[in-house]
Amino acid sequence: MDAEASPPRSIASQLRGALRACRGAWSHAAKLALDVALPTLCVACREPVDGDGVCAGCWAKLSFIAPPFCPRLGIPFVYDPGSDMLSMEAIANPPAYARARAAVRYDDVARTLVHALKYQDRTDLAPAMGRWMARAGHELLDDADVLVPVPLHWRRAWGRRYNQSGALARVIERRTGVRMAPEALRRIRPTEQQIGLSRTQRASNVQGAFKVATDRQSLITGRRVVLVDDVLTSGATVDACARALLRAKAASVDVLVFARVVDAHKSPI
Ligand SMILES: [Zn+2]
Repeated sequence: MDAEASPPRSIASQLRGALRACRGAWSHAAKLALDVALPTLCVACREPVDGDGVCAGCWAKLSFIAPPFCPRLGIPFVYDPGSDMLSMEAIANPPAYARARAAVRYDDVARTLVHALKYQDRTDLAPAMGRWMARAGHELLDDADVLVPVPLHWRRAWGRRYNQSGALARVIERRTGVRMAPEALRRIRPTEQQIGLSRTQRASNVQGAFKVATDRQSLITGRRVVLVDDVLTSGATVDACARALLRAKAASVDVLVFARVVDAHKSPI
C-alpha cells in the first residue's frame, strides 16, 4: 500500500512544486507588468506622479532650507543677521561637528518621506532625497574626502532590509563622486530608539555608542568626513558619531541630513 501510494504522492509534490514555481514566475511577471502599467503614486498624498515619488503639490509643501541660516548648525534665520553670525544654540551648545546642513525642515511631508524610505521599503525615494541633500550640502561636499552614513545597530538592520542613511549616502556618492565608506562607523552597543527621550536622555543614550572600525581607520584618519543621516532632531546621534570620527583622527566632520527639526520657539533671532 505504502509502496503504491508513494509514487503518486511524489508526483503530486512535484506538481505542487512546479505550480509554485509557475505562480512565482507569474507573480513576478505580473508585478513587472503592473510596474509598467501603473504610474508611481506620490508617497505623501497617493496621487499618480511620474519620476521622483512626490507630486508637484507635495513638493511645494516641502520647506527647503535656504540662506540665511546659521553657518554652524544650518538652522534657518528668520532674517539675515549678516555673514558669519552664529545662532544662539551654536554658541550655547557647540557641537563636535563643524557644520550641519539639511535639505528640508522636518514637517509633515518630510516625515512621510522619511518614514516611507525607512519603514516601507520605498527605496525609489532615495534618488530625489539624495539629490536635494547634495544640493543643500554642496559647500560641505566640495570640501569632503569621504561620506560616512550613520550606522543602524545590527539588530535593527536585521529587521530592516537596508540602512536608509546608506541609501542616501550612495545617491550622494554617485552625484558628487565623493567616496562613501559604508562600514567605517559601527554601533558598538545597542541604543534605545531616540523617540520620546529628552535632549539629555538622547545624549546619554548614544554617548560612546559608536566607534570607527579598526580595519577602516585609514579611510578616516586625516580625511574630511561628511556624516550622512536622514533626520537631525536634537543632534545627539550625529554628535556622538562625530566624536567617534574625531577620535579616529578625522581632519574634520560635517553633517548632512535630509530633514532637520527646526524648533520655532528656539529659532534664533
Ligand atoms: Zn503628493
